[in-house]
Amino acid sequence: MTNIPFLNFFPAHFSIKGEMRDAFYRVYESSWFVLGKEVEQFENAYAVFNQVDYCVGLSNGLDALHLALKSLNIGVGDEVIVPSNTYVASALAVSYVGAKPVFVEPDLITYNLNPDLIEAAITSKTKVIMPVHLYGQSCEMEEIMQIAQKYNLYVVEDNAQSQGAKYNGKLAGSWGDVNATSFYPGKNLGALGDAGAVTTSSYIIANKIKTLRNYGSGKKYYNEVIGHNMRLDELQAAFLSVKLKYLKKWTLERQQISAWYNEALFGVGDLILPYTHPKATHVFHLFVIRTSKRDALQEHLNKNGIGTLIHYPVPPHLQKAYEHLGFKQGAFPITEMISESCLSLPIWPGMEKNHVDFIVNKIKQFYGR
Ligand SMILES: *Cc1c(COP(=O)(O)O)cnc(C)c1O
Repeated sequence: MTNIPFLNFFPAHFSIKGEMRDAFYRVYESSWFVLGKEVEQFENAYAVFNQVDYCVGLSNGLDALHLALKSLNIGVGDEVIVPSNTYVASALAVSYVGAKPVFVEPDLITYNLNPDLIEAAITSKTKVIMPVHLYGQSCEMEEIMQIAQKYNLYVVEDNAQSQGAKYNGKLAGSWGDVNATSFYPGKNLGALGDAGAVTTSSYIIANKIKTLRNYGSGKKYYNEVIGHNMRLDELQAAFLSVKLKYLKKWTLERQQISAWYNEALFGVGDLILPYTHPKATHVFHLFVIRTSKRDALQEHLNKNGIGTLIHYPVPPHLQKAYEHLGFKQGAFPITEMISESCLSLPIWPGMEKNHVDFIVNKIKQFYGR
């Protein structure tokens, strides 16, 4: 039986095996494993890629969001506007610094934070808007930046899923005061373990985060603030430098696979296909469809050896961890509707047209044609 996993690293990793081995040996032989020239080189290369002045390599995406908020002195008594349909990490970072996540519904068409709903959520305590570029599509950043300017708020982008996506020609991760991204293995740019970074064009913020990631110490054994150990490893940086060179190529592959899906699935059953805003680009971290028969379709595909996932089955406001915020089912109906109807189909660099054809045929079979 054909087996198409939801995610398959093998083709992409096979094609760069030699370079990855060289990267490993370079670090191995250098005997320097934490905060050295590999991290510095990757930070410089990623800053160039993201068209910002600074990138600071960190332990993971959640820590990057956390330190981004901390570098802006966000804390107890502050409110941060977060989309209600996001991975829980966006909200967790807000909770870490002692601030309150204030959820705002997405646009049902793009699944991204709806700029028209932001103003109603702003209070005298609001300090930050945190747009999350979900699934690979950039949020409507011009509109969001205008609101932030009007109310004098910071912007912290969560760009874990949209490395290389643009809005009106400008890259996600380059709009906010300081922005976070994740190099979790399954992300578009993934390390071989946990990793993340912030991107910013502020020298002051970049330096503050460099201190915070390293025990609050700028100079060894001298601690200016109570910091963390949230550093990017040399080894992960070396792997990421190799993979960064291929990110554009792999993104084009994701976009090609999405085009195949979109063409073949148009008008099939009650499927709602991904929509890309005319001013945005989509790097298809995930290919998310919606259907009222989601659970049955997922089971049908699973029986046919096709891996799918749900992003995300329980929105942050309905998680047990956020019980104390007091939200009940129905509090954010658009988000809940998305979580009840969405299904992510396999998409990974190296996936071929015949894989897509096989999946499409099984979906058509489900809808009885
Ligand atoms: C993956 C992800 C994160 C967290 O990144 P980690 O590196 O796993 O900590 C945060 N926000 C979003 C939207 C993500 O997809």
